Amino acid sequence: MSIADNIKRVEDAIAAACVRVGRDPAEITLVAVSKQKTVEDIVAAAAAGINHFGENRVEEGMEKIEAVNNMVAAPVTWHMVGHVQSRKAKRVLPLFDLVQSVDSLRLAQKLSNLAQAKNQTLEVLLEINISGEASKYGLKGYNWYGDNAEKERLRQEIDAILALRGLRVKGLMTMAPLGAGPQTLRKVFAHLFFLREELTSVFAVSLPELSMGMTDDYQIAIEEGATMVRIGRAIFGERKG
Ligand SMILES: *Cc1c(COP(=O)(O)O)cnc(C)c1O
Repeated sequence: MSIADNIKRVEDAIAAACVRVGRDPAEITLVAVSKQKTVEDIVAAAAAGINHFGENRVEEGMEKIEAVNNMVAAPVTWHMVGHVQSRKAKRVLPLFDLVQSVDSLRLAQKLSNLAQAKNQTLEVLLEINISGEASKYGLKGYNWYGDNAEKERLRQEIDAILALRGLRVKGLMTMAPLGAGPQTLRKVFAHLFFLREELTSVFAVSLPELSMGMTDDYQIAIEEGATMVRIGRAIFGERKG
């Protein structure tokens, strides 16, 4: 299977998931996660119609993004989807168009300050840890609907982030628990969806993007309201390690 064939299959599956729940496939942004893949693979995906790519490491982005930008016919949008260490934040800015993985107030403040120093606003998503796995980054949101203290803490954190002048918060992102069954996945995605509804009303802001769903679970994520899916293996094949 070529990368172009894989993309066709993923696009067909996205369309089928949309049909099941009466959504328009045009609402879904397919982000091809190209971590550990070569510049040639990325250029092949771009030639097959992909114009959003995700990377999870700043260094890898530094090695690949400019090379890809110089080789593709139409401009592509770069998404940072991995944890950004504070000391690497300044390298994120010139490379990435959207940082999906803003997982702490501290990182948000840092990115905002860097953007403001350049008279820019950086588009971001807030990564929310819905599943509660200790291994996952993200603002703590695993019990926001059931625990008032947690809900209040999350509300305050997000309030502070929304006030940062260098950032434009476009929505929320989450990572599903590894190896979870469909019912658990559905619940995690639905909780992110309802958190978005709640925040939209509490803060009277628009949070149009919900980034959820990867190779193993993007069809369920779309059924539960995802507007962005982040897909690596189904497009580029398995990664080495
Ligand atoms: C690797 C990665 C993906 C893509 O995962 P696949 O299972 O290969 O589709 C999506 N999101 C994030 C944050 C990732 O690190």
